[in-house]
Amino acid sequence: MKKIITISAVAIAILSGCNTAPIYRAVHENGVKQEQLVVSPNDHRAYKTLKLDNDLEVILVSDPSVQKSAAALSVGVGLLQDPPEQQGMAHYLEHMLFLGTERYPEAEGYQKFMSQHGGADNAYTWLDVTNYMFKINNDSYADALDRFSDFFKSPKLYEEYADKEKNAVNAEWSMRREMDFFGEFKLGRSLMGDHPANHFLIGNLESLGDKEKSKLHQETVNFYNTYYSSNIMKVALVSNQPLAEMEALAKKYFGDIPNKHIKKPKITQLVDMEQAAGKLIHYLPNTDVKQINLDFTIKNNMDDFAYKPNRFVEYLISSEMPGTPAQLLRNKGWISSLSSSASANQYGNYGTLSVNIQLTDEGMKNREEIVKTVMQYIHLIKNQGVNKKYFAEIKTSLNNEFQFLERSDEFNYVSSLSAAMQDYPINHVIDSGYYYQKFDAYKINEVLNQLTPKNLRIWYISKQEPTDSQMHFYDGKYKIESISSTEIESWSKPSKFSLSLPAVNTLLPENFAIKTNKDNMDKPQLVRDKNGIKIWQFPSHDFSNQPKGSLQVYFNNPKAQTDIKAKVLLSIWSDLFNLNQTALITEASIAGMNLSVIPSNGIILNVSGFTDKQPQLLSNALELLQPKFDEQGFDQAIDRYVRNIANQGKQFPVSQSFGKYRQVIQTGQYQSDALIDTAKSLKPEDLTNLITEVLEHNQVRVFAFGNYGAQDISDITNKLENHQANNHQTTAYARTKMWKPIPGQVVVYQEDLSVADVAVIDLYVNPEPGFKQKARGQILQRHFSTFASAKLRTEEQLAYAVGAFSGTVDDYATLGLYIQTPVKGPKEMQQRFDQFKKEYLVELNKMTPEAFEQLKNSTLISLKEKPKNLEEEVSPFINDWYKENFNFDSRQQLIDEVEKVTLYDVKSFYHETMENPEAARLSVQLRGAKFKDKPYATFKNETLVKDVAKFHNEMHVQ
Ligand SMILES: [Zn+2]
Repeated sequence: MKKIITISAVAIAILSGCNTAPIYRAVHENGVKQEQLVVSPNDHRAYKTLKLDNDLEVILVSDPSVQKSAAALSVGVGLLQDPPEQQGMAHYLEHMLFLGTERYPEAEGYQKFMSQHGGADNAYTWLDVTNYMFKINNDSYADALDRFSDFFKSPKLYEEYADKEKNAVNAEWSMRREMDFFGEFKLGRSLMGDHPANHFLIGNLESLGDKEKSKLHQETVNFYNTYYSSNIMKVALVSNQPLAEMEALAKKYFGDIPNKHIKKPKITQLVDMEQAAGKLIHYLPNTDVKQINLDFTIKNNMDDFAYKPNRFVEYLISSEMPGTPAQLLRNKGWISSLSSSASANQYGNYGTLSVNIQLTDEGMKNREEIVKTVMQYIHLIKNQGVNKKYFAEIKTSLNNEFQFLERSDEFNYVSSLSAAMQDYPINHVIDSGYYYQKFDAYKINEVLNQLTPKNLRIWYISKQEPTDSQMHFYDGKYKIESISSTEIESWSKPSKFSLSLPAVNTLLPENFAIKTNKDNMDKPQLVRDKNGIKIWQFPSHDFSNQPKGSLQVYFNNPKAQTDIKAKVLLSIWSDLFNLNQTALITEASIAGMNLSVIPSNGIILNVSGFTDKQPQLLSNALELLQPKFDEQGFDQAIDRYVRNIANQGKQFPVSQSFGKYRQVIQTGQYQSDALIDTAKSLKPEDLTNLITEVLEHNQVRVFAFGNYGAQDISDITNKLENHQANNHQTTAYARTKMWKPIPGQVVVYQEDLSVADVAVIDLYVNPEPGFKQKARGQILQRHFSTFASAKLRTEEQLAYAVGAFSGTVDDYATLGLYIQTPVKGPKEMQQRFDQFKKEYLVELNKMTPEAFEQLKNSTLISLKEKPKNLEEEVSPFINDWYKENFNFDSRQQLIDEVEKVTLYDVKSFYHETMENPEAARLSVQLRGAKFKDKPYATFKNETLVKDVAKFHNEMHVQ
């Protein structure tokens, strides 16, 4: 539930905007501080900002269309303020606040309330911020605000829960300790000596606890008393109520949070760059990657957000235009990707700007040359790149994006607002990422001048690195050297490649006209069906003023269903297309369009974003659909594929368990070792043959959603007809089939993992197919899951990730439990689950009619929620389209059935599913390395799946 969001620098960069239309442009010309909150012209919600009497700043967003209201509160404190004797304190306190307050003393009360009223909640801790958020059914908003705001007035911080929650934090750490991101992040910070950024972020049983001069409970209380003050808190609220009423709510619930008049914590301590940088770090990761990172530490320049110097530099470094390092080094077969990202306040008073490069084996042999090329290119930027034309391009791109900014879910919206309020002047919190006031060469040069060897760490990350040290809290091994002076000297010599700065972007949209009429179609319609090409069209109903659309072109072919070679080759095809077309994909992305090829039954070519230049993009993509490759390029793609499959085995056991679950129940899925063996046996001609096969034998299906007019549809048809192979044959539509559950069957999948923890999924299938059963499961799952989390996580500390879910296996409804546990083997865990199911039955039998109505109502509210953006709107239609339900009514059928469900129905659903010896079952047991000697769970009449392909051959399908 609660998690640490990894706001890695990687996530922050990436331009995805677009255009030239000047609607928004004139808004700010008078300096950074705006009098008014700046919102997108596409955003018609009402806004207000205010400062309460206790100095707490608030943003109110009134949106009559929302079915759920949301709130977030951020505190300007984080790991940078952790007491050195209790590292992980900021994060630990974040956990403790959920466990009862003066007015609502019950430790589980908040979670129960949330679950009863269709709520969701979370929180995260980072270096300089701790952020809390929730969303809830509109009619429970005031009650939820009352409970939530009490966290910040009078939390109980029960001493008796201190130990339990310490275990929860420990479980969270245990889950992440093998993740390379956390290991690398900590190692980088450990070079910063006694700068507070070097604290341990998550905390565990070693770092948190009673020590001679520092008692955990007392320190927790002290930390809260010191830093939880209204004047360093920010609140964002979204609801369906008018602004005046929201303002009254804000004052009522947040106005009495105590103001301790503290100074916002600010780090000023300097880092000794002699120690912290100028280093070459060899890092041995858990996953099989081949990587170079150039990691520059720069001064915090958050205040320059309106001049975007970091963005300007990132833009040039990561350009894919001819002559840039990305393009030159990829053409040599040395790298598969190069990107750049920055975080202005990563370490408090310092930020980072980094270049991340993924290597091939050839690249591994030329690492010094690659680093040299990037450093020489940075030199070129310093000399010739600080040019206004790039500013104009970036500004246009950002403007386009902001002008047609799409909404996100209100939960994510409030949390991003409350976080941004800590970093930017309040009137710029929405547009801070898009607002590019002016070209400022001085500020750009200021950043460029810090990209020097003295501020640089070079990371060599691969399975082949030499190591001499082991990290303390994480699993990584490493070795640190100084960057040699001869290497540094080589960077100032002229490059042997002809490096050049990027050319201009030609795909920026110019026309934002709306070409569709939504009144003509109330559901997707088949508008073309000729020569093996079928096109469905559907205009947006909720965002019909958006000049955007998404086009899926599905070259459907049945081979991957039965042929593991085809399965692997389709992935290789997609990888090589995406790699070969990186320049086009990047140019499109700056222009506000996305382009990708993904493997499926055949391949799917996706084009989305602004529709103006999509015809050009589609033509380019079709022309280049057959990637050019030589033997080396093919082998490198196989190497990436094999490592990618192998690295899946390093993921969290809980996420692996859901992957294995899908592998077992779906046709056309294969086991990892079989995929790897197959991949290693393939030759370049196999790919050529497969591509020919798919392009000659297929059925082309297109789903055009959004701003496409009749002319566009004809144009798409023509393009596809022209593209069709001469001897084309139309094949039957191939679709993945699902396991048909047989009464009494228990399908069991077991696997030993190389990571530490155990994951178990224990799933039951209701014997009767149909929406009636799915509806019952939907209502029950929330209640079931909350009880599972309260019992197994909070009370018994068995896991950080645990819950219940009701999914579907095609037509059938399921009910199941899942867990990732660091304390029990699979058999023991299964026994606990078996017991727990009986405990839950007692709880279910106690459910009152009122409580049931609330649950049902919450389910309906969620199902009927209006989409927030184009992607949410189209998603249920696309699901039906894949499944060939051309009534496009799956969601409506589910809603209709939910309306009819009674309390008696959900009780009998539980009975017929969980307590029914005849119900089919599926058990996935992944046994972590720590539990090697612990037994697996066994079942009467079990079908143990040792070979997934063999199981699929014998499996009944729906
Ligand atoms: Zn946490």
